[in-house]
Amino acid sequence: MFGGTEDSKLPRWGSWISSVQEILAKQLQENLPFFILATLLIYKATSCIWYYVGGFGIKESSRMLRNRIGRPIFKIITSSFILKSSVDKEVEKSLRAVESSLMKDDARLKNFDQLPTDGLQDQTVLEELDLSQKVLAHSDWEGGKVSGAVYHGGQELIHLQSQAFEKCCVANQLHPDVFPAVRKMESEVVSMILKMFHAPEVTGCGTTTSGGTESLLLACLSAKMFALRQKSISKPEIIVPVTAHAAFNKAAYYFGLKLRHAPLDPKTFKVDLKRVRRLINSNTVLIVGSAPNFPHGIVDDIEGLGQLAERYKIPLHVDCCLGSFVIAFMEKAGYRDIPAFDFRVPGVTSISCDTHKYGFAPKGSSVIMYRNRELRMNQYYLLSDWVGGLYGSPTLAGSRPGALVVGCWATMLRMGEKGYINSCKEIVSTARELKKFIHEEIPELCIIGDPLCSVVAFTSDQIDVHELSDKLAKQGWHLSALQNPPALHLAVTWLTRPALPELMRTLQEVVKELSSEPNKKPSSDGTSALYGVAGSVKTSGVVDRLLVGFLDTLYKTKRDY
Ligand SMILES: *Cc1c(COP(=O)(O)O)cnc(C)c1O
Repeated sequence: MFGGTEDSKLPRWGSWISSVQEILAKQLQENLPFFILATLLIYKATSCIWYYVGGFGIKESSRMLRNRIGRPIFKIITSSFILKSSVDKEVEKSLRAVESSLMKDDARLKNFDQLPTDGLQDQTVLEELDLSQKVLAHSDWEGGKVSGAVYHGGQELIHLQSQAFEKCCVANQLHPDVFPAVRKMESEVVSMILKMFHAPEVTGCGTTTSGGTESLLLACLSAKMFALRQKSISKPEIIVPVTAHAAFNKAAYYFGLKLRHAPLDPKTFKVDLKRVRRLINSNTVLIVGSAPNFPHGIVDDIEGLGQLAERYKIPLHVDCCLGSFVIAFMEKAGYRDIPAFDFRVPGVTSISCDTHKYGFAPKGSSVIMYRNRELRMNQYYLLSDWVGGLYGSPTLAGSRPGALVVGCWATMLRMGEKGYINSCKEIVSTARELKKFIHEEIPELCIIGDPLCSVVAFTSDQIDVHELSDKLAKQGWHLSALQNPPALHLAVTWLTRPALPELMRTLQEVVKELSSEPNKKPSSDGTSALYGVAGSVKTSGVVDRLLVGFLDTLYKTKRDY
């Protein structure tokens, strides 16, 4: 083709190509940033199209387009010099609002932003503590108006826990030789919980941790190290339902794991098994399911996940942090509709259970369980040549507060199996009553999936649920705000039952009020505005700055204003 007489055509081609090259070179020189951006966008767009071709559907692919292209573009625009000052002004305004809602102070309280020169009398310390609690009054958790947060709060239990704490105040599990009794109690806490979740008699094992997040971090760490040691997987990935707890994202961030989000079945709101299967590859080190998840209180299909885990020989973690002592006792409490979720399901290799949720233990207490010792060993940290001596630590922390594990142990002994079965009945029946009421009496609200345990989440296509949340907050009710889709949830606790009639009434009234003024613009502060900012592509990047500001606020003292 390019030989013989055809040669005569070459110069024309050549000149065309060279002129394009010239233009490109010139453009590149002048508009380098534009080209980099364009290349990036084309690359991202291609990946989104691949996503679509891969069978993920138009809705999800467009969501990906939005997140991967829309957000970066608007991030650049909002940080450009034209908009920067007006965006900055808005962020500042919102942060002032956050500060004024969080940083409560009172002129009656003394300022302790540095050490008092002379130590105070016990009496004075306690007086200041009491005064702080009194004048900086907390939300009405005692009246059962807060979702989750305080799971028991009964005075007798608090008294027992305080006594247990006092008796073991100095204990540290880092020194089991110094505190042998604490070692015994800690091992008993793990053992009791292994039994509750039907771990294999001989091989089942676990450790206590400081809370659900640490339990999940360790489950991910163990899976990563197990895969590295057993299968030499060096680019580990975990497959996590979009509804799984944020601690999995945190684990991915801390331990360098690639997080693969699995979407939900649009009807059941359980993780879509087909999509999980498609995400499995030779780098997958862990599959995750929740029983139930935090946002919607839905129990994933653990048996289905177990089958996948077995078929592809990948560990499966079940997050029972929230379900804890409610889901574990539902069978014994007579609920026949709860599907299998614990170690009796083949393929389940680890389970996390928060003793500080429905176990009613003092905060700072959870358990991570494994099917066998090898898995547990992979969360251990060992250092045999340290100048400070031989060092081994089972969990993330070094020193650990023995008093907390003793508080947990005392709580579990006091409650006993019957106590937990009763609280399970009370909590689940309350949640189901609320579910039924919303379903039958408040047509504007739509329950998400079919929650079976303690959390009820609802959305609405008629009213702004975040606006609803703001209005409920004005009446003292603190429900949790959710997004994608916008929703609210209530995690029923031991304290909710007496408040239930008032909650139903208030909810119905406020919904009615909102739906009678459907076109009213939502207020410019509060939950509704915040989630508006978070959800909008145009303001992406801004909400991260608000979160940083929120976290900074936690550590501000009088000195800072
Ligand atoms: C509460 C919770 C956790 C862990 O949270 P912590 O605040 O660290 O105790 C994990 N998973 C679910 C589903 C939860 O609800």
